[in-house]
Amino acid sequence: MTPKVARFLSEQQPATPCLVFDVDRVAENFRTLRAALPLARIYYAVKANPAPQVLERLVTLGSRFDAASAEEIDACLAAGATPAAISYGNTIKKVSAIARAHQAGVSLFAFDSIEELEKLARHAPGSRVYCRIMVENAGADWPLSRKFGTDVATARALMLRAGELGLDPYGLSFHVGSQQTDPASYQLAIGKVAMLFTDLRDAGVKLRMVNLGGGFPVRYRDEVPGIDAFADAIMGAMTRAFGNDLPETLVEPGRFIVGDAGVVSAEVVLVSRRTQDDPVRWVYLDIGRFGGLAETEGEAIRYRITTPHDGGANGPVAVAGPTCDGADVLYQRSNYRLPLALGCGDRVELHATGAYVTTYASQRFNGFAPLAEYYL
Ligand SMILES: *Cc1c(COP(=O)(O)O)cnc(C)c1O
Repeated sequence: MTPKVARFLSEQQPATPCLVFDVDRVAENFRTLRAALPLARIYYAVKANPAPQVLERLVTLGSRFDAASAEEIDACLAAGATPAAISYGNTIKKVSAIARAHQAGVSLFAFDSIEELEKLARHAPGSRVYCRIMVENAGADWPLSRKFGTDVATARALMLRAGELGLDPYGLSFHVGSQQTDPASYQLAIGKVAMLFTDLRDAGVKLRMVNLGGGFPVRYRDEVPGIDAFADAIMGAMTRAFGNDLPETLVEPGRFIVGDAGVVSAEVVLVSRRTQDDPVRWVYLDIGRFGGLAETEGEAIRYRITTPHDGGANGPVAVAGPTCDGADVLYQRSNYRLPLALGCGDRVELHATGAYVTTYASQRFNGFAPLAEYYL
């Protein structure tokens, strides 16, 4: 938690649950990544946190944007981004959204199928297009693999077809999965993409861009490799694969830019035991799976939780949300331990909740209001 967030929480004691977010941390993370990967263009993945305060700060820093819908494109433009700084990175786009993006001046689009390519040719003629390749998502706590991407042979055929359809066959992309903790995953993916670059060049199509996607991890409860380990792996692999003929290189970080900028402040609603001799206490918070902590699905993202009683004796807990849904359990198997003194009314913090929380909150399930947000 940054000093600014800590001061706000102690001075204001805002009603819970709420997200308190330090926008200066976004600038720090952006600069850290830019320093680690100076040759890459940074396209912030808007979906991680689309708050205007975040987008506006990133515009001033010279960031570009990876948008997934016409609404996200509008948000980027409203924050001051130029259409040239926006990539429409979703491979699944409504026709009306493609037309709207094209009309707004966006000229860079992702796809991974012939059907989508034909939609682009028709509704965004002449645009630069890049094909998403399916790669291994091993090592990612929040994998994305099976829903997106195509294989190398199909991508080759699609990139040849793109030119015939009047589009500009611009490059290739992949995503190694979110909260990726293994730098080697990028190396494998880059090797795959580079072979296709060569192959297509021999077939007469000279691609100019590689989009390495996002995935850079944030420190939650458990330690992760630093950004330099990823930068070294990526630059090593790019140089080995492309020599001194490096293509334009894009990265699309979401979580890394905003994750550790936010803290959720929550209240303990109940601490109880299922049966009188059960060693495990159930800690129910006023935020859960439906209040924005959707990435606790499968206990994939394990947030660090602090309490006013830290340092005292602790014991095993299950942590759950306040709704009447049985799926609204955050952690049952991940060996969470919290202080024995923790009780109803205590205020706790869930750290590094700046990414993928505000927009994952449901609309008034059980009547609970959407998560309040404070941007400092
Ligand atoms: C979600 C997403 C990202 C951002 O991923 P992070 O793991 O948050 O960095 C980047 N690119 C695409 C295409 C995505 O879907």
